[in-house]
Amino acid sequence: MAYLELKNINKIYPNGFHAVHDFNLTMEKGEFIVFVGPSGCGKSTTLRMIAGLEDISNGEFLIGGARANELGPRERGVAMVFQSYALYPQMTVYDNIAFGLELQGADEEYIDERVKNTARILGLTDYLDRLPRALSGGQRQRVAIGRAIIRKVGIFLMDEPLSNLDAKQRVTMRSEITQIHRETGATTIYVTHDQTEAMTMADRIVVMKEGYIQQVGTPYELYFKPANLFVAGFIGEPPMNFVRARLENGAVRVGDATLDLTRKLGEARARYEGRDIVFGFRPESIRLGAQEDACTLAAGVELTEMLGDNTNVYVKMRDERAILKVDPHETPAVDSGITFSVPYESVYLFDAESEAVIA
Ligand code: ATP
Repeated sequence: MAYLELKNINKIYPNGFHAVHDFNLTMEKGEFIVFVGPSGCGKSTTLRMIAGLEDISNGEFLIGGARANELGPRERGVAMVFQSYALYPQMTVYDNIAFGLELQGADEEYIDERVKNTARILGLTDYLDRLPRALSGGQRQRVAIGRAIIRKVGIFLMDEPLSNLDAKQRVTMRSEITQIHRETGATTIYVTHDQTEAMTMADRIVVMKEGYIQQVGTPYELYFKPANLFVAGFIGEPPMNFVRARLENGAVRVGDATLDLTRKLGEARARYEGRDIVFGFRPESIRLGAQEDACTLAAGVELTEMLGDNTNVYVKMRDERAILKVDPHETPAVDSGITFSVPYESVYLFDAESEAVIA
């Protein structure tokens, strides 16, 4: 049976703002789910409804098959780590971590065992006597996580927990949180606006936009089988390129090129005849020059950025721009004309109006 179920969950704030629309999701025990999307898309609101910090306007939330809408945060068995992880500055790491259990009146021996075990999982054993001000940002964040996981809860919620850390610390903490999840096995929901965090940490990702779920899937599914333009453009860095195209006489016209995408379009070909579509391809899926079984396009090079492992080449095709990732040894000259090819299997076609994927 599904462990957590959100059925047609909506949030309408008292001022009338409809922040979350018909949110449907089931989660298995132990899953690591990431909610991702741009600022204001309703991620935190949804998380707070799961935590019991925000009323559910309508819809049903179930834990282990039982309705939980009316339960308070404690009764739901959730622990939460927020973006601002205020620790008690005058208390040691040990006491900060122990605090929640002490409040519950747990006995000292049990608390001591749990604190030491939690510190071991988090690599904080050598810091238990320190005050928070004597810790790095990443260590403080680990203490905040320790405070949450010391209570044995079924559901662990995290709202942008790494946003106060610098880029390097974020990368380290990402893998540490994944490791902690593996050790504790707690069902985890993690909110971020960072697609890299979502891709590297999640079992499944929920992509949201303006209060609506756009797609739910594994990182692999979202990258290779995006449901629409938004997901295709959100997942991947640099983002997928989109070029206006049109279906004429059964062929796809992209700029000056006419491409035979009959196989790709399949049955959709007749439906889209004479209509505008969007031709999408990822920067990393191209090869310079013409190739077999690929769409070949011509472009002018505007700018190149050598990054070491690859070069980003900014090109212009008629009035459309795109980014191509190439081997640094093959970096073309600025202002030169090039051809590049996109393998058929790496081409995405979208409905220009509904923005849904066609093929
Ligand atoms: P961010 O990454 O910026 O935190 P988010 O995706 O978590 O964004 P939410 O905080 O869930 O977004 O907010 C969703 C929408 O609901 C936003 O447009 C926000 O302005 C609005 N909102 C949030 N809280 C309230 C409130 N108490 N009353 C009215 N509207 C609210």
